[in-house]
Amino acid sequence: MKDISLPSTAGAVNKLIDSLGKLPGIGPKSAQRLAFYLMRAPEEQVLALSDTIRSIKNQISQCRICFNVADSELCPICQNTKRETNKICVVEQPQDILALEHVGVYRGYYHVLHGAISPTEGITSQNIRISELMSRLDNGQVDEIILATNPTTEGEATAMYLSRLITPLGIKVTRLARGLPFGTELEYADDVTLSRAMEGRQNF
Ligand code: ZN
Repeated sequence: MKDISLPSTAGAVNKLIDSLGKLPGIGPKSAQRLAFYLMRAPEEQVLALSDTIRSIKNQISQCRICFNVADSELCPICQNTKRETNKICVVEQPQDILALEHVGVYRGYYHVLHGAISPTEGITSQNIRISELMSRLDNGQVDEIILATNPTTEGEATAMYLSRLITPLGIKVTRLARGLPFGTELEYADDVTLSRAMEGRQNF
């Protein structure tokens, strides 16, 4: 990584700039701006932020059922008994749930794989939460699996793999409709596109 530290300022400030610069989407200039902002901000605000960041590591875990982020045994979606129990939407990452929930057209439950099958990166079906998904199908309540993995090579390969595994069980397998451009990631898709993709989902 490029050294973005400033020789003209204190070591602790440089350390902060360096840490902030490692965050996604934060370039050297933004890292500097944030660092100087935090130095000027009220102490309570900065300490509250640092506590919040710390709590992500201490208090946040994964939902026992769907592997979404949770601060108790179950995530808020799995705790909600009013959702449709016959549908599971399979996504790669917890932030994909945020994107789909923001659109608000889907009322079933989710399953987070925490990755996608990628032979080039050595990620196999064993390395992501596929066996956990399969055991959720044992109770016979689920009649549709919506494959909402990203429209990327890895996402498509994962969707294909899951479809071959699940279709023989007599469960309908659908895939988000085309319209999401190939190579994009779900979390960056706009609401209209995502909403159309969910509503127009097709048999896989
Ligand atoms: Zn959950």
